[in-house]
Amino acid sequence: MAFHALDYYGIDELFTDEERLVRDTVRAFVSDRILPTVGKHWAAGTFPHELIPAFGKLGLLGASLIGYGCPGTTPTAYGLICQELERGDSGIRSFCSVQSSLVMFPIWAFGSEEQKQRYLPGMAAGTLLGCFGLTEPDFGSNPSGMLTTATRTDRGYVLSGTKRWITNGSIAHVALVWAKLDGIVRGFLVPTDRPGFVARDIPGKWSLRASVTSELILEEVHVGEDALLPGVQGLKGPLSCLSQARFGICFGAMGAAMACYDEALSYAKDRVQFSRPIAGYQLVQRKLADMVTEITKGQLLCLRMGRLKEAGKLTPQQISLSKRNNVYWAREIARDARDILGANGVTDEYQCGRHMLNLESVYTYEGTHDIHTLVIGQDVTGLAAFDP
Ligand SMILES: Cc1cc2nc3c(=O)[nH]c(=O)nc-3n(C[C@H](O)[C@H](O)[C@H](O)COP(=O)(O)OP(=O)(O)OC[C@H]3O[C@@H](n4cnc5c(N)ncnc54)[C@H](O)[C@@H]3O)c2cc1C
Repeated sequence: MAFHALDYYGIDELFTDEERLVRDTVRAFVSDRILPTVGKHWAAGTFPHELIPAFGKLGLLGASLIGYGCPGTTPTAYGLICQELERGDSGIRSFCSVQSSLVMFPIWAFGSEEQKQRYLPGMAAGTLLGCFGLTEPDFGSNPSGMLTTATRTDRGYVLSGTKRWITNGSIAHVALVWAKLDGIVRGFLVPTDRPGFVARDIPGKWSLRASVTSELILEEVHVGEDALLPGVQGLKGPLSCLSQARFGICFGAMGAAMACYDEALSYAKDRVQFSRPIAGYQLVQRKLADMVTEITKGQLLCLRMGRLKEAGKLTPQQISLSKRNNVYWAREIARDARDILGANGVTDEYQCGRHMLNLESVYTYEGTHDIHTLVIGQDVTGLAAFDP
């Protein structure tokens, strides 16, 4: 089915030529290379490794970073890449978000020159893969409680602890592990072939099935002095990476929503019940009108966020607002699309069910919906309600 991208408010004309070109290139790539096979990968619970070289060639990895083999696009173009990739599948967008925003960005922003030279060109090409280990079995929304530790040795550091729910964990060559050194959170670039490092995939996921999610166990893993990210200390490190990734997720969620809306509209126009296509019934039109409204609002949030980011004015709280809103509505839209498709909506012949299930993870990761509510609440009241 050809994809018709919703642009109800003519937002297209507010992007630069370069941004439109990047978006259209990725849109065509998703139609040609991702959509034909992603359903099979999702059903099998496998990640499409075969696409990684193409991600590198197209400049999708570390797209908005400057130098070290990265294309240096505008933040908005990076967002549009995420939008298009997530139109394909949230798991594919997750792969690129983790590589770009959660591993390449901190190396670029906080790494030594030697770390940048060692990792970034290979990561941009897709020959070196990374993962981001922050969450632990007992510390998700509250990462400050993490138990993973780093201790100084004669030649570097030794790391011990467990990280869970780590995207790309078992396929990564390098893990950015956040651990406490003398009680302060620091980032360590840990080669995953080190003795004591084990990555085990988490079985039984019914969401993000075309994405690798793993547990990382570090049992006295020795790394050199050069593993420490020198440029950042404290939770500010991981939180600033998450801001980068969430920015892309806001766009990505709209990509998934646009795919679901397009599928639902096309289906509703074709599907005849009683006297006419179901698109002609008021209750169905109400659902479609809600989808158009919420996608348009979400697209406008993204555009404005992009321009604020380019001007250096975007706050983490503004990103929280968009993440909370856009993922919430994408999840609702996927459910309504599934409903419009009736029984066909529960089969893998259509995409909306896959998007619906994927979006459950997106709702929870990168700060849950509730946690973003509290971030906004704290911002407007000046009172933190995380731990009353
Ligand atoms: C598929 C997938 C991939 C992931 N990839 C990564 C990754 O690459 N790297 C990584 O580090 N992590 C990753 N995560 C982990 C993710 O970031 C966490 O799941 C998330 O932060 C939530 O933590 P939790 O699951 O422990 O839930 P919890 O923190 O236990 O929260 C459970 C519920 O309690 C609510 N809650 C918690 N605290 C409060 C409060 N103070 N007030 C009100 N409600 C509250 C939450 O909103 C939620 O509804 C991934 C998760 C998934 C599902």
